[in-house]
Amino acid sequence: RQAAFRSDIGALLEQVGTGKESLSFMKRRMRRLAAQWASAARRLNDRLRSQWREQKRILVHVGFLTEESGDVFSPKVLKGGPLGEMVQWADILTALHVLGHNLKISVSLKELQGFLGVPPGRGSCPLTGPLPFDLIYTDYHGLQQMRQHMGLSLRKHKCHIRVIDTFGTEPAYNHEDYATLHGYRTNWGYWNLNCRQYMTMFPHTPDNSFMGFVAEELNDTERLSIQRNKVDSMAVVYGKEASMWKGKERFLAILHRYMDIHGTVYYETQRPPEVPAFVKNHGLLPQQELQQLLRKAKLFIGFGFPYEGPAPLEAIANGCIFLQPKFKPSHSSLNHEFFRGKPTSRQVSSQHPYAEQYIGRPHVITVDFNNSQEFESAIQDIMKTKVEPYLPYEYTCEGMLERVHAYIQNQVGLCCIHRPPNPFVLLPNSSALAWASNNISTPPSWPPLSALRLLASLEGQSCIDACQSAGLICEPAFYRFINIKEAFSGLEVQCDGVEAEINHIFPAFSVESSECGLQKDPLLFSCAGANNKYHRLCPCRDYRKGQVALCRDCL
Ligand code: UDP
Repeated sequence: RQAAFRSDIGALLEQVGTGKESLSFMKRRMRRLAAQWASAARRLNDRLRSQWREQKRILVHVGFLTEESGDVFSPKVLKGGPLGEMVQWADILTALHVLGHNLKISVSLKELQGFLGVPPGRGSCPLTGPLPFDLIYTDYHGLQQMRQHMGLSLRKHKCHIRVIDTFGTEPAYNHEDYATLHGYRTNWGYWNLNCRQYMTMFPHTPDNSFMGFVAEELNDTERLSIQRNKVDSMAVVYGKEASMWKGKERFLAILHRYMDIHGTVYYETQRPPEVPAFVKNHGLLPQQELQQLLRKAKLFIGFGFPYEGPAPLEAIANGCIFLQPKFKPSHSSLNHEFFRGKPTSRQVSSQHPYAEQYIGRPHVITVDFNNSQEFESAIQDIMKTKVEPYLPYEYTCEGMLERVHAYIQNQVGLCCIHRPPNPFVLLPNSSALAWASNNISTPPSWPPLSALRLLASLEGQSCIDACQSAGLICEPAFYRFINIKEAFSGLEVQCDGVEAEINHIFPAFSVESSECGLQKDPLLFSCAGANNKYHRLCPCRDYRKGQVALCRDCL
């Protein structure tokens, strides 16, 4: 059956259900953005008119909202607790609905069992027969629950699963045996999925797929009125929980010399002691009212926590400049409590690396807050700078629909281990080497092989960084094509023999020892990871400006 775009979200709202503050928050968001989704759907529909899109049967099981996982989030929705996850789930549900798929939603174990066909009262009876879904979107909590309740058949159906995973999971942590043997075992990893089955909130881990969410878009009238009503001396502080303000008195005092400071910190009866008296605290605001506040403010300022949330994108979309601290050294699972146990070694270079790296000046200013002079002159600059509201295409409704559509159509057979089609032809290209196959039979590659650019990293550099410094992005789907000995000769690398090893930085070579190594286990193909002894072979690809998940020929 062909999937038809839907412009009405009534049926979706009914499906989401009631009884939890988190669900009410998600529904309010869906209603608020409904018109924006509908017009994005029309535009994408016009562009894709000729494409056949099959309607998929999709189960969305939001594990972190189930009672069985403790549901610590719902009671905090109105009390300053994290909302980013709910923002993202609301948007994922809306995108799947608007794309016209056949959706089932579960936020409890009972619903999950019902949808998977487990008879009531037989809690851990394994699912028998075929899976009634083409795709299942869940999170790490949900994955655990499915293992308990699907038993062995989970393994059989694993390829249909997508895991919404905000901070990302790197291959070394995902590979159970490797993680256990080499010190990458954490509470969350080791599911032996194809890492592209993990979907992140920002495009920070190219080994994973980038799911994202959306921010509010403005029409021309709104843009104009924002320009008219901006108050150059008005700042809003990022942080709805009082603890995020702790120890920031010094910065607040400097900022207060220049600007009126507003906050949206949750409180019960009294002003939280962390929030100085000169701050106008509005208390936690409904999303819509926060947007109104951001439309007037010139500056949105972060003090280091929360990491990588949606709010800075909303602020920038409403014409604020986002000022945030640079982290020196970077924060990671090795040196910061928050990231400890998360299945990634990613180095987080500032409070919001996406804002820093993908948006940057004039919308985003990232400075060392410990340098008071630098901090103060950033504030002075901000008051003088005029900026337009800005929202990267990948965070618009159309951008998210386009990306999710592309994944659903093309990310199939993620679990099959393919051998590279042979033979290869090497195409020299000035800065890099392009590979193309003269005889691609099965299976076709997505992204298409024409996007592949093979590079060697510097010694000690990861493929994430190597591709990025060439203006490209690492594409894990291409590792299977470059994990061949011809890749070394193509790059004119001298090898004293070529061995295959189980090591997440392979394929790689050492110039000093003329050692060249291929990857023995495709599950360990990894854009992340570096070793001072080695240059890595990196499969890079181009990307669309504002839609990094997709290459030029990806749609
Ligand atoms: N938010 C809100 N009211 C407020 C402050 C924030 O509704 O007073 C919303 C905001 O619009 C954003 C969401 O909370 O979409 C998540 O914000 P944040 O970036 O703080 O991420 P979190 O840490 O909550 O995941």
